[in-house]
Amino acid sequence: MKRPRVVLGRRVDRSLTLVAIAALLLGLFYVFAYVFLAPYPGVDYNDRWDVLSFDNACNVNPAWCEATRGTLRAGDRLLAIGDLTFQEYNGDRTRVPFAGYQPGDPVPVTFSRDGIVQQTEWQMLGPTGAIRFGRLLAGLILFLPFWLAGTIVLLFLRPRNIRWRLLIAFNYLMAAWLTAGIASATRIAASSPALHALTWLMAPVFLHLHLVVLASLRSQRRRNLLFSFYLVAILLAVLEFLQLLPNTAYYLGLLLALVGSFALLLFRSLGQVPSAERLAARLMLLGASLAFGPGLVLWVIPTLLHFDTGKLITDITTAAIPLLPFFYVYALYKHRLGGLEFRANRVLSLYSFLALFVTAFILVFMVGSRWVELTSGTLAFALIVSALFVVAALFLRTPYQRFIDRLAYGTEHNPEDILRTFVNEIPRALSREALVQLLTREVAPSLLIWQSALYLITDGNASPFYADRVALPEGADVSQPVQQLVAEAGRYHPPETDVQDPFSWVRLAIPIVVRKQLIGVWLLGKRDPDDYYPQPDVGLLSTLGSQIGVALENARLFEDLQRRAAELETAYRDLQQLDRLKDEFVQNVSHELRTPLTSVRGYAELIREGEMGKVNIEQQKALDTIIDRTEGTIRLVNDLISIQQAAVERENLEQVNVVALARSCLDAAQLVVSSQERGRAVSHTFALEAPEDAPSVWGDRRRLSQVLDNLLQNAVKFSPNGGPITVGVRPCLDQFDSTTDGPPPQAAIEISVKDAGIGIPADRLDRIWERFYQIDGSSSRQFGGLGLGLAITRDIVKAHGGAIWVESVVGAGSTFRVVLPAQLSAVAAEASEALDGAASRGADYPVGEGNVA
Ligand code: ADP
Repeated sequence: MKRPRVVLGRRVDRSLTLVAIAALLLGLFYVFAYVFLAPYPGVDYNDRWDVLSFDNACNVNPAWCEATRGTLRAGDRLLAIGDLTFQEYNGDRTRVPFAGYQPGDPVPVTFSRDGIVQQTEWQMLGPTGAIRFGRLLAGLILFLPFWLAGTIVLLFLRPRNIRWRLLIAFNYLMAAWLTAGIASATRIAASSPALHALTWLMAPVFLHLHLVVLASLRSQRRRNLLFSFYLVAILLAVLEFLQLLPNTAYYLGLLLALVGSFALLLFRSLGQVPSAERLAARLMLLGASLAFGPGLVLWVIPTLLHFDTGKLITDITTAAIPLLPFFYVYALYKHRLGGLEFRANRVLSLYSFLALFVTAFILVFMVGSRWVELTSGTLAFALIVSALFVVAALFLRTPYQRFIDRLAYGTEHNPEDILRTFVNEIPRALSREALVQLLTREVAPSLLIWQSALYLITDGNASPFYADRVALPEGADVSQPVQQLVAEAGRYHPPETDVQDPFSWVRLAIPIVVRKQLIGVWLLGKRDPDDYYPQPDVGLLSTLGSQIGVALENARLFEDLQRRAAELETAYRDLQQLDRLKDEFVQNVSHELRTPLTSVRGYAELIREGEMGKVNIEQQKALDTIIDRTEGTIRLVNDLISIQQAAVERENLEQVNVVALARSCLDAAQLVVSSQERGRAVSHTFALEAPEDAPSVWGDRRRLSQVLDNLLQNAVKFSPNGGPITVGVRPCLDQFDSTTDGPPPQAAIEISVKDAGIGIPADRLDRIWERFYQIDGSSSRQFGGLGLGLAITRDIVKAHGGAIWVESVVGAGSTFRVVLPAQLSAVAAEASEALDGAASRGADYPVGEGNVA
């Protein structure tokens, strides 16, 4: 993407440089002529050669003062100076009075006083150093600003269109006209005809400038009219130069140029024209008023007050004039000044503020001192007025700057307000849609931005995020041009009519950076009122840009989170499915295994009993082992099957005496263990702690004994060093509900199985109830089993409406507690009531709680 762009200090055209140098030389020539060539007689006279005044040079040059005393008087009319007569002077505007005389030379002068023609000798004064310096300063102050402004436009600003030419012509003409103008009083170097000719040339240029700089001239008729106007003006200028026109004719040209331009500006700044034009016209009008206003005011008011103004006021008037060219250049080219725009704005605002301020100060001082007695009061008055002005300056400077900004940018928005509103709001947009809505519906409109888009950049690749009222190039890879825009980020691109690229609508690009990484670029286009982004707004938009970065990052994280949650959800469902498949598989395999295993055991028993022939002792032992192992395997298979069948079948329910059940299970376990441990060092001891008369429970006896069998088997298995195993049965109260507002406690039976084995780590207490869970699940583990026993146990207990939990200390042993709702016999009911009372008194019988599974 190539954009012809204007940056001050870039390549400069050589022929244009020559033009600028020529204009400089012309101006400097007149300044030089005015300062060094123009004769300086020390007497002041007007166009009709009426003597007006004399230089007050008596203390600088007493000899000259002495020599000229009494020779001429104010009011005398000069008839001839040297050999130049008034008629010759009047007929040829290139003739210079007192020309050729050196300071101190006597000049023969003919004059008439009271109707009598007399002759005398006038001694030339010759300029003093101070006068020369004053002339130089005035010449340069009037000339240089216009020349500089013209040269800046000429050399540095583009495009080279009609506006460009007119603005250069305007500035150079003004520069030449002003220098020729001040020199023309002395008539040196043909300055007077030059002034007259220049005046005629100014007329069409000024009118044309104010007519077209803002809107291009479309109508052919108007163009023809202007063209003839130029021709006439050139003709008149030539005639002026040849002194073929009346002496005062050029005033007409001046009037045309000034009044016409002023009227055009006024019309544009008030009329129904596009806002950009109106803004520029207002700025130009302000520049013109500020340049000439102080001079006008300081000339008119003192004259009305019959006040002698003096040199200071002339200086101030002159000093305000440079505001004109720079306001013009600023108004017409501020879009193209780049980073300098902001500084130009501040400098112009400060300079014009000073001009207004000093003018106001002088006026107040002059008007005020009229009323104050020129005695001791003067000093006090001066002090008070000065102090007031200093204080006022502090308060007025900011409003004045705001006024200039409003004129320059046409907006009244307060960037800080916008910043405050949106800086908080943008990062709150959690989704991409919300962010786009906020940016296109609120942020951009409140900054009067009518086109915008955002590209996300990942690994150097740009992808569109949103586009509002612009068409982004589709399909094509835009990474390259987008990178180019990023490289020029923060810099204003003036509208180019002749550039054809998909991003020519972009006026400003704002990089979006998060944690020092570029993640996108925000492109801003057309903007009201004049399609411009001044420096303060660029700063503001950059701040908003970083907030957009935060919002984008938030939205990304939020979307990531949602995606992860969805992934986890699917993974979870997959696992559930797998779990079900596994269960089914285990069920099927178990069923298939049970039948052959039962046959194996049956046949083994038949053989052992000798039904199939005599069996010797050795064979009997082997068959014992076969039967034992087969039974173990059948038990496992039964476990596997019963895990699916834990639901208690109604028809199997009966009153179960828990104490009797516990005793029988304990006996069976003891029998098995003692046979296994016969002749071994380790031994388990078994004990039952149960009251004689405990209430019974309503349940499935076979299933309940399975519970006790499992717990006892685990107690034996996980206490490899032997030790006591105690089964306890006791009545208690239990809520069977862990919530605090559950039902009132009811009579229950607690069965506990306690061992002194290896114990269970605290973090595993919850997990041991899961199917197939074993604390040591490794293949090298010490203890056999499938990890199903506790899962089955818990299911059976739950099916009985009970609860089961475990208390355990690693290395010291575990206690499994089962609580079942009691089925009260008549005797037990009484006991239960007694229990109730005891419980409500907070006594001996604890309410079951703990690790309820
Ligand atoms: P398993 O067939 O492995 O015994 P269980 O479901 O009966 O399966 O037990 C699960 C796990 O709980 C066991 O592998 C064991 O790690 C732990 N466990 C069960 N009972 C005890 C106990 N009395 N002492 C220590 N750990 C036990």
